[in-house]
Amino acid sequence: MPDYREVDDEVKKTKKDDYEDICYMCRRPESVAGKLIHLPMENICICPDCMEKSFSMMNSTPINYEDIMKNMNFQIFPGNIGDSIPKSQRLKKKKPKDEQKPAIDLKKIMAPHQIKARLDDYVIGQDYAKKVMSVAVYNHYKRVATNTMDEIEIEKSNMLMIGPTGCGKTYLVRTLARLLDVPLAIADATSLTEAGYIGDDIESVVSKLLAAADNDVEKAEQGIIFIDEIDKIAKKKNTMSRDVSGESVQQGLLKLLEGSDVEVPVGATSKNAMVPLTTVNTRNILFICGGAFPELENIIKSRLNKSSLMGFGADLKDAHDNDPDIMSQVTIEDLREFGMIPEFIGRLPVIFTLKGLDQDALVKILKEPKNAIIKQYQKLLALDEVDLQFDDGALEAIARKAIKKKTGARALRAIIEELMLEIMYQIPKDDNIGRVTITEEYVENTGGPLIEMRGVYALENKEAAALIE
Ligand code: ADP
Repeated sequence: MPDYREVDDEVKKTKKDDYEDICYMCRRPESVAGKLIHLPMENICICPDCMEKSFSMMNSTPINYEDIMKNMNFQIFPGNIGDSIPKSQRLKKKKPKDEQKPAIDLKKIMAPHQIKARLDDYVIGQDYAKKVMSVAVYNHYKRVATNTMDEIEIEKSNMLMIGPTGCGKTYLVRTLARLLDVPLAIADATSLTEAGYIGDDIESVVSKLLAAADNDVEKAEQGIIFIDEIDKIAKKKNTMSRDVSGESVQQGLLKLLEGSDVEVPVGATSKNAMVPLTTVNTRNILFICGGAFPELENIIKSRLNKSSLMGFGADLKDAHDNDPDIMSQVTIEDLREFGMIPEFIGRLPVIFTLKGLDQDALVKILKEPKNAIIKQYQKLLALDEVDLQFDDGALEAIARKAIKKKTGARALRAIIEELMLEIMYQIPKDDNIGRVTITEEYVENTGGPLIEMRGVYALENKEAAALIE
């Protein structure tokens, strides 16, 4: 008979890592289920509850070990059971109290002007949005750092950003999370449904954050969750059936936005998957919702037109019809009319709009940010010792083409990708090429790029075009 305590120690030794053990029957981690009992076979751990259940089953029925083993689900994992649980489903162990760092150091939080200056390096335009976000984030992390629960509790500064597609909503949040060095989860509201229906459970957004934080609950509890396409969960109008992907999702998100303990599956998007569950407190998680709200413009227009028609100072009937900046006049009433429930909007106190990008902004996006698209291509070609240049006319032509596609800055990449394909294919063929200049004619498809050899002379446009074709 082996000494189980020795084997137990051995098992513990071989499994020493940063992840928590999980009960192999109910799949709860040790922090939830209580001290686990390590069985002397293949790194199996069982929680006291499941152990007790198994024993009471043994006592109540004539002992049939085969049945018991079946019940314990042991056979379903082939090979070494201890290693069969993927890392994505295992929780990071909590650090002992003395190793725990204070949540966030008040002195180390960047001031709003510093946050904005860092955002400026990457995001072009959208000054108002950057300012609002910097202040809201600063206040949020101040709130996390002080963590005071006295009578003056600072409220959460969850945000709602409204702006057309491709204007930089996701990019802003991504940049923000990177420079604050906090985990970020990006979720799509369209895939969410009320629990029990096909689609992702609402808590899955927190699961995603947990995965982004490397399954470290404490880190996740200070992260950012960005929920995109939030306008798609507006209350459906004139529907008789249960609105499981609209209003119900808004209802379900309420308690997350407010801050509460939620039980989330680790490494999966549904609680029904056989994965461990853990509890995450969303009190200090910053929620940012974003959406294009396409019909909102008409709602604002009709409200403004209605109010300006009355009284002595009545404007022309269509005074607001051609206002390009109409979205910035949005009010909570408009959002309610759009189909967002008041409780939901109430939990997103910071509401701001982003502008669509014009031609100048698109040109700047091409060349100015730290990781601008053309800088990326220049770096790629520099590795072949070729200097890549873009004419001003070429940049404007690219921006014009992008505006026609109506997908904001997102179109830029596709256009440049197409433009550069032939160049990236042909250039490495000839070692003598020293510089390639993309011209307006090349973008407009009426000519070729300017190609200069490593000597002093440059090829005429026509010859260059022939080389590329
Ligand atoms: P959306 O507003 O639809 O979320 P994204 O943020 O995903 O748009 O933008 C798509 C891409 O366009 C980003 O990855 C980024 O490279 C670029 N982009 C958009 N807006 C800007 C901007 N204001 N400054 C710099 N790049 C931008």
